[in-house]
Formats: sequence, C-alpha cells, structure tokens
Amino acid sequence: MIHSKLIGQSSLLDRLNGIISGGRIAHAYLLKGPKGIGKTTIGKKFAKMILCSSKAKRPCNICQSCIQFDTANHPDYKYVGPVGQSIRIDQIRELRQDIAIKPYQGRYKIYLIDDSHIMTQQAQNALLKTLEEPPSFVVIILCTDNIHALLPTITSRCQSIPIRHLASRYIVEILKKRNIDEDKARVYAQISAGIAGRAIDISMDEEFKTLREKTLDYIGDLFSKPDVQILKDIDLFISNRENIWTIMELLALFMRDVLVYSETLDNHLIINTDKLSEIYRYSEEISREQIKGAIESIKAAQRMLKSNANFQLTIENMLLSISGGVKLCI
Ligand SMILES: [Zn+2]
Repeated sequence: MIHSKLIGQSSLLDRLNGIISGGRIAHAYLLKGPKGIGKTTIGKKFAKMILCSSKAKRPCNICQSCIQFDTANHPDYKYVGPVGQSIRIDQIRELRQDIAIKPYQGRYKIYLIDDSHIMTQQAQNALLKTLEEPPSFVVIILCTDNIHALLPTITSRCQSIPIRHLASRYIVEILKKRNIDEDKARVYAQISAGIAGRAIDISMDEEFKTLREKTLDYIGDLFSKPDVQILKDIDLFISNRENIWTIMELLALFMRDVLVYSETLDNHLIINTDKLSEIYRYSEEISREQIKGAIESIKAAQRMLKSNANFQLTIENMLLSISGGVKLCI
C-alpha cells in the first residue's frame, strides 16, 4: 500500500533506491525538513527498503523482512522517539548496547531516531561515540526539523537528505484520498505551503474552518466599512494571534483569487471556490492595481512580523493600507 504521505516523493524514493542498489549505503542519514513534511514516513520507508531482501523492487512488500517490518516485528529495526519532552541518554545507552549485537537475520541493523533535535546534550554526546566508530552493519536515520539543535559533530557525520515541499497538486491528491472534496483540498493545500502533514491537520481542524469563515467575512468589512470601524473590529487578529500566519495566508489567497479572476475571467483558476459570488463582485468593483496593492500590504506585514515588529501596529497599518486603497461604493 502506498502511504498517502509519500505521494509526490517518488524522485526522492528513486534516489534512496539508487543508494541501496548501488551499494552506497552510509552509516548515518539526516532527514531534514519542517514538521509534517513526511520525514518519519520516508525514514521508515527507507529502513524497510534497506532491509528488504528483494534484488529488484524495494520494498517488495512480500518478503519475510517486509512483512516483519509492516507488522512492527522486525528484529533488526529499532525506532527511538521522544519520551516526554526529550530523548534521554538512557535511550541512547540502550541503543548503543543493542548496536554491539550483530544483525539477527540480514546484513543491516537500522535505528531511526525521530525528532532527533530533542536529544539532550548527554544523549547527543553518547550518540556521537557511535557515529565516530559505527559497526559495519549499522545504519542510523535521524529525522529533524531543527538541525541547529544538533551538534555540528553529529550532522557532519551524516549524509544529509532534505525533504522537499510538495507541489499543491500532490497535497490535493493526498487530501482527496482522505475523502476531502477537491474544492476544500485546494484551499488546504495552498495554506499548508506544500507540507502534507499540515494540510491533513488543517483539514481535520474545526477551528481552522471557523477561522477561515471569520477571516473571509472580515474581508467584506475591510472593503466597505469606514476605517474607524475596521480598527474597532481588529479583535479577529488580536484574539487569534497564534494563528496570524494562517489568517494572513487566507487573506492573501482570497485577494489572489480576486486578482486572478479579474485578469483571466476563468473561474477554474479560483481556489476559494465556495466564495465565487464575492470573488466575482470584488473583481468587478475593485481595480487590479488596488488588489495588487492589498496583496503587497499583506506580504509587507508578514515580513514585518517575521522581523519582530510591533504586532498590533503592523496589523493596523496593514488593514488601513488595504482598506484605504480599496473601497467599494455602497
Ligand atoms: Zn521485501
């Protein structure tokens, strides 16, 4: 069975297969990328591929090793994950003791250390000893979304494999396999910025759906109400500060739809397909220059927030800039 999170990763899987068939398996790999991108899924798949006894297609899914792997019964594969908030030295000591024993049935023993950046300093130092002199049969796969929290002496001993963001169409495909409508899947794909796990989380999150409705309602106010009222209604942003990136992306995505439709009159290019009437209306009533200005204001505010500018001032400036440039005749 193809894991849905592996959709769109075929070139990476081909590369990993090439490493195995070329006999170039390193002792340590570092799978890096943002949370939700699929590092653990790919790491497990890589482990299964290395252990598979097939000479042709890996994983074959039918050999003894593949079956053991799929049933979480493989004697030569160990998963090490966080216990509480960290990966502790006793977990790495246990791993080191296990590494001293030869593989039970195949050529390799594989250890996958998930969220490896939360290893304590002592745990990292203990692991380093293994990475300095690994037994010939050992392969250690580290997954991380924060490479800077790992000792440089560890990362320099690993072959680095970045996990790329997926194109939107793959995320849509993943979500559709989870019975999500294509229309909604396209919105979630856009908001998730190519991160499959994030898109899946968003699709199951009722709070996100409420936040989206509130944000898109607010756009109507932004275009029609006086500036004084707009600033009074800023609560949407203040009370959802932890989700400000999502709100900004939703705003930008909606504006992008208005702009694209006003330029092409092609509704197949619209992502917020449940908001067609509003998009048609705004694309007629607001000039392209004004919409482009609004998108610029959102991007500028995102940059400001990234550089730790004052939150409320940045949001107020953004809203006034959008509403000042764009006002419907009502
Ligand atoms: Zn197999």
